[in-house]
Amino acid sequence: MKTFLIICDGLGDRPIAQFDSQTPLEAAYTPNLDKLAEGGVTGVMHTVDIGVRPGSDTAHLALFGYDPNVYYPGRGPLEVAGIGMEIKPGDICFRANMATVDDDMIVKDRRAGRIGDASPFAEKLNGIKIDGVEFLAGAGTGHRLGLIMRGPGLSPQLTDVDSKKVGVKARKFESADKSREAKFTAEVLNKFLEQAHLKLNKMELNRERVSQGKLPANYLLVRGAGIFREVPSFYDKYGLKAACVAGGGLYKGIAGILGMDVVAVEGATGKPDTDIKAKINKAIELGKEYNFVFVHIKGADTMGEDGDPEGKKKFIEKIDEAMAPMLNLTDSLVVVTADHSTPCVLKNHSADDVPVLISGESVRHDDVKQFGERPCAKGRLGHIRGSHLMPIIIDLMGLAKMFGA
Ligand code: ZN
Repeated sequence: MKTFLIICDGLGDRPIAQFDSQTPLEAAYTPNLDKLAEGGVTGVMHTVDIGVRPGSDTAHLALFGYDPNVYYPGRGPLEVAGIGMEIKPGDICFRANMATVDDDMIVKDRRAGRIGDASPFAEKLNGIKIDGVEFLAGAGTGHRLGLIMRGPGLSPQLTDVDSKKVGVKARKFESADKSREAKFTAEVLNKFLEQAHLKLNKMELNRERVSQGKLPANYLLVRGAGIFREVPSFYDKYGLKAACVAGGGLYKGIAGILGMDVVAVEGATGKPDTDIKAKINKAIELGKEYNFVFVHIKGADTMGEDGDPEGKKKFIEKIDEAMAPMLNLTDSLVVVTADHSTPCVLKNHSADDVPVLISGESVRHDDVKQFGERPCAKGRLGHIRGSHLMPIIIDLMGLAKMFGA
């Protein structure tokens, strides 16, 4: 038996006036999702906890059964893992932007004119050693970069220096606590940023950019410090061989840290133009080799953050269309839910619960025949937490250990 877990990012929403006070999911035409709901059990879920506005990262950890209060490493390690850099326990990881500063270290552009490929710059900076600390750099998408500090006596307790503004001086890191480790980390990182600036300024590629009237990528805006600690793998925890189909780096990073195999799918972009059909078809194919396949679909969240209910509704209809082959699976559980709500009226995440459906031949049914926030609130699962989802799945797969005798 195998499970397909489809997480539609930011799917949940609030009533939209132009939809007669329905949510985008309720208003959308979703015959396939509705059939899945009809052929299974439904409910609503607070992914992290009641009243908690989850980030996508903490919510995903919770859905996979990893308490984010224990296992959340901060954004840096997840981003670094997401771009495929190898990380080791104890590494201090950051996300970074290639940026432009002038001779007085005033930030001119936070993305160096949105350079398309940071790899030549990452290569230049990769492997620099300062005071026994090795710096590893890897290119992410566009102007983004992953940065690792590796060495003894480091701490992620650093102040946030990215002012998110242009026209201000690039700030230096300071320790956020009184520990010797944090002070040392801040000092070494500041030295590295200075060296990096000098090296980048001298790069032929940047001289060319300047002569073409473009902004040089001559500085790193670094943020999201986190320390990577070993996490029990998904396989060790559940005995499931798991694969991940996702476009966005963060989701690949989370899957990677849990030891899932991250499988590339052509057309999976992590953006609203993503090829959802290709992702679902790939997932079904992977079901022959894996007994747990996680599919992440980002678009609904993006539409929510844009405050675009019509776009969100249309994107949900695209998800629904792509889900058609999931109706014909045998010996499988199909689970569809979200990591959090992203109401269009808020243009941000909210603490509202999300609908969840678990469909499969052996799953007890309820009377819910539509996938939506309101219908699912009447479902048999009732109101669960994200931490309940994996135990329910494991039991339905026939893998749960008995409590007692
Ligand atoms: Zn999310």
